Amino acid sequence: SSLSSSRLTIAIQKSGRLSRESIDLLKACGFKFSLHESRLLAHSTSHPVDLLRVRDDDIPGLVMDGVVDLGLVGENVLEEARLERLATDFPAVFTKLRNLDFGQCRLSIAVPKEASYDTLQSLEGKRIATTYPHLLQRYLKNAGVKNVSTAMLTGSVEVAPRAGLADAICDLVSTGATLEANGLVEKDVIFRSQAQLIQRPGELSSEKQALLDQLLPRLDGVQLARE
Ligand code: ATP
Ligand code: ZN
Repeated sequence: SSLSSSRLTIAIQKSGRLSRESIDLLKACGFKFSLHESRLLAHSTSHPVDLLRVRDDDIPGLVMDGVVDLGLVGENVLEEARLERLATDFPAVFTKLRNLDFGQCRLSIAVPKEASYDTLQSLEGKRIATTYPHLLQRYLKNAGVKNVSTAMLTGSVEVAPRAGLADAICDLVSTGATLEANGLVEKDVIFRSQAQLIQRPGELSSEKQALLDQLLPRLDGVQLARE
């Protein structure tokens, strides 16, 4: 298959908040691609590089398992996947190559407007709905808040309190409009995130390493020019 070939394989989000900027960044670095909406793989027409277009949640595992060479993914998804793997004895190793200048967001705890909440300790004994149980539990543990349970939801997290599934939520916030619409108030930012470029463990072939050595200075140049 083309994934085991000498072509440098880069996993990016297929469709979502990171897709456009991931492709634009690679193009700005001089790599040309022709994208077909439905295809998983996109071959570069200018370099021996392939894009693998998948759900963002799959990117950390593909990199840590060495299935792809590089990945562009949000630190929120990356760190949650790393913590989950550490807890389940799967390989959790990768190299962080660069912070990327897009995908900025924050992961926050929010509670219903009418809930009584003074400090983080108010959450003791409560249940929090989230897609990021490991990031949340690490934060609560470091803050000395005990006895918080989680309800794992991969979507519609913001409706969980109203549906009686949880007392609070821990979710990504950008403008706060979604929280407001659901009668929730943001209380604590537990993680700030942006997109990252990461590399799989193990040595790259000399051809792939040469490509990466071309890519990184270009990427630095592109990001510097944008500042
Ligand atoms: P997928 O179908 O790939 O699983 P998704 O629905 O999980 O997509 P998106 O909503 O597209 O994911 O968000 C992808 C990533 O973009 C988030 O995990 C986060 O890193 C980042 N992100 C979240 N909110 C914003 C925002 N408002 N602006 C920029 N980036 C964001
Ligand atoms: Zn996702």
